[in-house]
Amino acid sequence: MALNWPEATQRRLRAFAETRDWVRYHDPRSLLLALVGEVGELAELYQWQTDEPPDQARVQDEIADVLIYALRFAEVAGVDVAAAVAEKIDRNEQRFPALPLEEGQ
Ligand SMILES: [Mg+2]
Repeated sequence: MALNWPEATQRRLRAFAETRDWVRYHDPRSLLLALVGEVGELAELYQWQTDEPPDQARVQDEIADVLIYALRFAEVAGVDVAAAVAEKIDRNEQRFPALPLEEGQ
């Protein structure tokens, strides 16, 4: 069975850490603090924003950092990301039912 996107990416991130001897730094607390730091970097791009949107390349870069640390944290914390997200969306669909379609839609 083919790996899903989160698993394939986590495998690549794990290999990246292992081949640099960084796994010993990847405890849940450190990864979570790194994740929070990256969310801060993303937020900074929108801080004091005027009419100008932030640079798209920088937004892309920071979102990548956020997702990388979230995926790495999830793996170390023993969370199956694909299952967790699917289950959460399922619960949200039950909790917040879709609006009825208007006639003609
Ligand atoms: Mg960053």
